[in-house]
Amino acid sequence: MKKIGVLTSGGDSPGMNAAVRAVTRGALTLGYEIYGIYYGYRGLLEKNIEKFDWFSVAGKINIGGTFLKSSRFPEFKKIEVRQEAKKILAEYGITSLIVIGGDGTFSGAAVLSELGVKVICLPGTIDNDLGYTDYTIGFDTCVNTVVEAVDKVRDTSGSHHRCTVVEVMGRSCGEIAVNAAIATGSEYLITPETGFNKNDLVEHLKNQNLGGIKYSIIMITEKMTNVHQLAQEIEEITGIDTRATVLGYVQRGGSPSAFDRVLATKFGKKAIELIDRGVFNRCIGIKNNSVIDLDITEALNIDRKGKLELLETFKITL
Ligand code: ADP
Repeated sequence: MKKIGVLTSGGDSPGMNAAVRAVTRGALTLGYEIYGIYYGYRGLLEKNIEKFDWFSVAGKINIGGTFLKSSRFPEFKKIEVRQEAKKILAEYGITSLIVIGGDGTFSGAAVLSELGVKVICLPGTIDNDLGYTDYTIGFDTCVNTVVEAVDKVRDTSGSHHRCTVVEVMGRSCGEIAVNAAIATGSEYLITPETGFNKNDLVEHLKNQNLGGIKYSIIMITEKMTNVHQLAQEIEEITGIDTRATVLGYVQRGGSPSAFDRVLATKFGKKAIELIDRGVFNRCIGIKNNSVIDLDITEALNIDRKGKLELLETFKITL
């Protein structure tokens, strides 16, 4: 009997549970044994491993976060630790490993595969910062969470003729910000890809005010600048009442959208199909509405620049 392991690692994202469910049921359907590994790579080293049956994943598809839990485990960068991981998988008779996470998790899988472990990677991150796939599991839910929050902020900004700077997540990638900016009709956008030009922002706000619009939303990706300080500066320079709202970890949570549940299930199905065909060390993604798979290193090397078309789409509304 062939055995498959599955784990979630790094930053959690809504829809990871749907992926674990699809992988589990897909594996069982094809006659494999399936093992859930708790707390990512750390849990593998700690042998926090449980044999799953059909009902281990019941009632999970609508739940946010990851019931398999996650962890940051920098020790996995050491070869001795990965060799120990390989030994533990062999001890359990697990012949292939499915990892669900972001680029860090994929890098861990890439170096683990160099030791001869057979791995498949599923993209689970709210940031949508992997260039090889159009969407990652959790991104759609996250953007919807941001849109819901910003719609509310806009109501109160409108009532008080206020400018609001909204900071969203994304690490070094502006995908959340640009999608949310378009969907909320934001008045200005700052992302790692657009860069930040304070003079341009101030001019824009002044012109907008002349045009009679007395409130605005400025959407900005985290780590671009201190948003509280920026709000103060805008107020001082333009005289417009300005506040900053940092959306923070609410963006990570919540029940996954239908899109993310379906995407996770498609990816899970593909993972089991690849294993069944004896194809390994691949990342699964979606491109032009088709599920694809790519060598891990190749996938990690694909630039995100192709995703920047949306910035042009946003600009026509400015
Ligand atoms: P994400 O997968 O969301 O990008 P991290 O960057 O924290 O999250 O990566 C998740 C885990 O993957 C890390 O805690 C570590 O265990 C493992 N990992 C990340 N980068 C590497 C690497 N270069 N080599 C080995 N393992 C890695």
